Amino acid sequence: MQNPIILVIAEHFEGKLKPVTLELLTCAEKIRQFQKSSIIVTVLGDNVQALAERLAKDHGVNVIAVHNPHLQYYNGEIYKTILTKLVGELQPVFVCVAHTAQGLDFAPAMALRSAAACITGVEGIFQEGGHLCFSRLIFGGKVVTHVVPSTNATILTVQPGLFKPHSKGQASPGKVEMRDMPLQPKQTRSMGIKTVQTPSGSLAEAKIVVTAGRGIGKKENLDLIYRLAEIFPKAAVGGSRPVCDMGWLEYRQQVGVTGATVNPELYLACGVSGAVQHLSGMRGAGFVVAINTDPNAAIFNLADVCVTEDLTTFIPALIEAYKKKRQASD
Ligand SMILES: Cc1cc2nc3c(=O)[nH]c(=O)nc-3n(C[C@H](O)[C@H](O)[C@H](O)COP(=O)(O)OP(=O)(O)OC[C@H]3O[C@@H](n4cnc5c(N)ncnc54)[C@H](O)[C@@H]3O)c2cc1C
Repeated sequence: MQNPIILVIAEHFEGKLKPVTLELLTCAEKIRQFQKSSIIVTVLGDNVQALAERLAKDHGVNVIAVHNPHLQYYNGEIYKTILTKLVGELQPVFVCVAHTAQGLDFAPAMALRSAAACITGVEGIFQEGGHLCFSRLIFGGKVVTHVVPSTNATILTVQPGLFKPHSKGQASPGKVEMRDMPLQPKQTRSMGIKTVQTPSGSLAEAKIVVTAGRGIGKKENLDLIYRLAEIFPKAAVGGSRPVCDMGWLEYRQQVGVTGATVNPELYLACGVSGAVQHLSGMRGAGFVVAINTDPNAAIFNLADVCVTEDLTTFIPALIEAYKKKRQASD
């Protein structure tokens, strides 16, 4: 008898895999540790053969690449239809989807059409009482729930940034199966994607995130945050919710339970108190430096380096010290 299948839905853009796809692979491997199964990745799009072949070669997984000429840009209607067909045919026990705007667009509908359970925002996998159990946060990150599915198939939307990206291994290349599914969308057509210009890099892909909290005091002080971010390569600027609510930063820069989840190597929290809703978006950060005037700020419980200073004097001093050091080494 064939092993049960874990199906991973690749997320990609402009011919490149989104980093979360490799995290989904790690998540699928974690499930496989508890339940004997085979992993298949599916890549949907217009001309995705090269991407599928690279994925199969680099990560040793079998890939089903589905070509559809109407998927030059993501289209939820086509995704839902194709994926429901694939789930019907492959009968996977688990389907791993990214907990992103795109994943959340198609996963619940796909679960409904396939009579599968849908567990969203998965953060952890473990075994409890002989059952495979999935953890997710609720009540704005204050409570962790453990969910055990009771259906034959379960769709999981997996939080980005919480599983390590799958690394390129020595495994022999997987097989690629090409399929043509030229169905047309009936209700919606995707006309294009406009990339929004940001003064700093993308939060999801940043190695360093510099975050502004309400403690920056006024919008003009954001300049300090951007200047600090500029001294690092691959840095992005994030904000706490009040800073975004006040319109000082855009909502896509918000870090936290209702914003982005980030997992940079370095997280610089400037004037952030450390509310649980904020922490839940940056718990995956490798090293945390917090600057706060209040020595009892909750962010200090999590920070690796705690700077009890006024950010308006500390950040300019830090930038100045960096510049001097740089000049000395040039
Ligand atoms: C359902 C729900 C969802 C939420 N989702 C999110 C979310 O996704 N992300 C999020 O961030 N929040 C979220 N919140 C809001 C969250 O509860 C907090 O209110 C928010 O994170 C606080 O933001 P803050 O730390 O910037 O501001 P504050 O809590 O006001 O903290 C400001 C900090 O700056 C310090 N400070 C002041 N002046 C200076 C100075 N000159 N130099 C240095 N430090 C200074 C202060 O000591 C203080 O600790 C959510 C809340 C709810 C109820």
